[in-house]
Amino acid sequence: MNYAFPPAPVVTLDAMSSNPFPVRRIFCIGRNYPAPDGEITKAEEPSFFIKPASTILQNNSVLPYPPGTTALCPEVEMVVALHKGGRNIPADKVDYDYVFGYAVGLDMTLRDMLDAALERGLPWEKAKSFDHSAPCSAITPEFYSGNIASGKIELKVNGELRQSGNVADMLWKIPQTVHYLSTRMELFPGDLLFTGTPAGGGPVVKGDVIEATVAGLEPLIITIG
Ligand code: MG
Repeated sequence: MNYAFPPAPVVTLDAMSSNPFPVRRIFCIGRNYPAPDGEITKAEEPSFFIKPASTILQNNSVLPYPPGTTALCPEVEMVVALHKGGRNIPADKVDYDYVFGYAVGLDMTLRDMLDAALERGLPWEKAKSFDHSAPCSAITPEFYSGNIASGKIELKVNGELRQSGNVADMLWKIPQTVHYLSTRMELFPGDLLFTGTPAGGGPVVKGDVIEATVAGLEPLIITIG
């Protein structure tokens, strides 16, 4: 096949002893952990947005500070990698038939642009889908980790704890979230789910070192440049 120009290379994540995992799309789940003030409770259905695969930033990289913002904020999220897709996926089949493995991700957010978009009812892409806005660790295949339904999730900036929670506290659990997404659109092998972030956070600045962890998974270390 000849193309008008060379097609973009496939974005991949390392996956321990497996071959590299080709990323197709990134689904980010919103408001999926309870807030201390009770402001966030389980919604009737999950809310989500999509980042393109090209926003993946590999572990141990420098994230160039994006232009036009003063509020670059990291959100630590457990990432679920699917190696099987479909429509109307039964929730009770998700954990072992559809989940390839797990990783640690950062849903990087430009809080000032997001607040402006929310206020005016405008789309979120400027705030959420900018270059390098989806740092992600290597994937731990499920045959090593087992099914992960609980475990500490934390974010540190320059060694200082900013976010701390447990993935067991997710309001929409992974099987129900995958089922829900597959009723809205067809899912495909290579799709990633960023499963939401615990309370806390705040902006980072140039030179900061972000360490994002989920118990049992490879830590994600990103430096702001
Ligand atoms: Mg998020």
